[in-house]
Amino acid sequence: MRAIGLIGGMSWESTVTYYRVINEEVQRRLGGQHNAKSLLYTVDFEEISACQTEDRWEDAAQLLAGAARVLTHGGAQVLLLCTNTMHKVAAEIERAAAGAQFIHIVDPTAAQVRRLGLSTVALLGTRFTMEQAFYRGRLEEQGVRTVIPQEAERKAVHRIIYEELCRGRIAEPSRQVLRAVVESLQREGAQGVVLGCTELGLLLGEGDVPIPVFDTAKLHALAAVDAALGETP
Ligand code: GLU
Repeated sequence: MRAIGLIGGMSWESTVTYYRVINEEVQRRLGGQHNAKSLLYTVDFEEISACQTEDRWEDAAQLLAGAARVLTHGGAQVLLLCTNTMHKVAAEIERAAAGAQFIHIVDPTAAQVRRLGLSTVALLGTRFTMEQAFYRGRLEEQGVRTVIPQEAERKAVHRIIYEELCRGRIAEPSRQVLRAVVESLQREGAQGVVLGCTELGLLLGEGDVPIPVFDTAKLHALAAVDAALGETP
């Protein structure tokens, strides 16, 4: 079994999901007393979110590249950056993690959308993820078209992520907001919804909306298990 390195803390609420899914899946596949070999580097999210709002992406990249180096020197052979938004600087992290297998969060997500035979999905996430090319572009390169909410709805989703979910607040009215957003995107052709923020799965799941839900945190974590156990999904 290869060791999985997690760059977490963005926010720690969703890092808990990664840790749980990875260990439950290894236990499910291997049985006995097995769990995943892993290393976790938790950043202080306040520092990362300050870089985001002040448009200092290069500073954030340096900080996360440092975390990647610590994990790979510590023995991580598979590396995950446990957030969608910070994949804006994925290239820097991947460079710093030379020697480990870096799994980009979009790749297992796009693979799962295609596996279900879908071509157009709603994309929910932070404003950075919904609006910038680094994320939607990579999905599109893999044959997945995205539709995103209108400006006011994007603002609402972004607020729910930073002011509620990243602080551990699960609020029913916000679940209703997300459901309404997904339903309006369904009318625009979305056949499924990508939860392009690792905390959104804390609020919205299969059964909350009438179309398939792709939870990036879970898909990313499962892809790490495949890589750690040397299995192809
Ligand atoms: N965890 C979130 C994401 O997947 C938002 C926090 C962040 O900005 O990293 O994008």
